[in-house]
Amino acid sequence: MARIYNFSPGPSVLPAPVLEKAREDLRGWRSTGITVMEMSHRGKDFIGIAEKATADLRELLEIPQNYKVLFLAGGASAQFAAVPLNLLRGKTKVSYVSTGYWSEKAIAEARLFGEVQVSASGKESNFTTIPPRPQWNVDPDAAYLHYTANETIGGVEFQAAPEADGLPLVADMSSNILSRPVEVGRFGLIYASAQKNIGLPGLAVVIVREDLIGQALPGTPSTFDYRRQAAEGSMVNTPPTYSWYVAGLMVEWLKEQGGLKAIEARNIRKAEKLYAAIDALPFYSNPVDPAVRSRMNVPFHLADAALETPFLAEAKEAGLAYLEGHRSVGGLRASIYNAMPEEGVDALISFMREFERKRG
Ligand SMILES: *Cc1c(COP(=O)(O)O)cnc(C)c1O
Repeated sequence: MARIYNFSPGPSVLPAPVLEKAREDLRGWRSTGITVMEMSHRGKDFIGIAEKATADLRELLEIPQNYKVLFLAGGASAQFAAVPLNLLRGKTKVSYVSTGYWSEKAIAEARLFGEVQVSASGKESNFTTIPPRPQWNVDPDAAYLHYTANETIGGVEFQAAPEADGLPLVADMSSNILSRPVEVGRFGLIYASAQKNIGLPGLAVVIVREDLIGQALPGTPSTFDYRRQAAEGSMVNTPPTYSWYVAGLMVEWLKEQGGLKAIEARNIRKAEKLYAAIDALPFYSNPVDPAVRSRMNVPFHLADAALETPFLAEAKEAGLAYLEGHRSVGGLRASIYNAMPEEGVDALISFMREFERKRG
């Protein structure tokens, strides 16, 4: 199979060594005579895989002891509901910052369970920037403050965790978790669906401070109850075992790459050269405020939108695929997660220069 460079926003590219390891294990897990996807989640083999993945993730992200790490089904979308169900804790209000498509999704779901105060919104700028922190209006009675660390569609990324005025800070890190170091101790809860930087879809990783759990809203389904899931090792239901296993391989791979500081340095290099290529030619443009441009998802437009179709077709011919923008915004987008090699970004930049030379 000839590999191409896969710029898909998610499910997305996996590192070649992770695919190799998974392929090897498909011949049979150790001496069991079966594969990981065929084994019981309660058997000692899978428990070993799950515990190692959890321990490695704790080490990589330097997760303090007073945090639980959960591996739950339903992706980040299920967490849009689970977060208010678990974290309202007798309060009625929650504060959300809206920076684009995924914030809006999280807000809509939270409205099913509580009163949502939108503390700040980037809507006026068409979500091309993040309102400066001093302009936010955070309700001191809110149960928590929620933000989307990286907007996968709009390409807007917080470059640091915002100040939460003493409220538990909650972040959807689906599309930038493990792309840079984070200080977990500043957060009440971090969640991320896995299919961007942690492997396969269907899984969400939830990192939650212990004192925030145990007061779920009456009527909370047991699979959504963090206390129950924590007490039962994320196995109130059968977890997405294969996605959990691949998450373990991803974390192992990141440790081999030198950890989060090393991957961050590579991510900065990749993003900087791609934005520089876009900014260098009037033929291409990126609408996002340079101070908050995403290192993971780079949306861009062609000055002549009619050239997008040939751009995509010729890029695909050149082995550069899945560059279409999200259906809600159009244009083009290159997702350059941890697993996108630097050579992939270099190849895209060369292609863009060549396309401009021919068609510009
Ligand atoms: C992809 C994504 C989601 C949704 O993930 P699902 O697995 O489809 O639930 C939520 N938030 C962000 C920031 C995302 O990138």
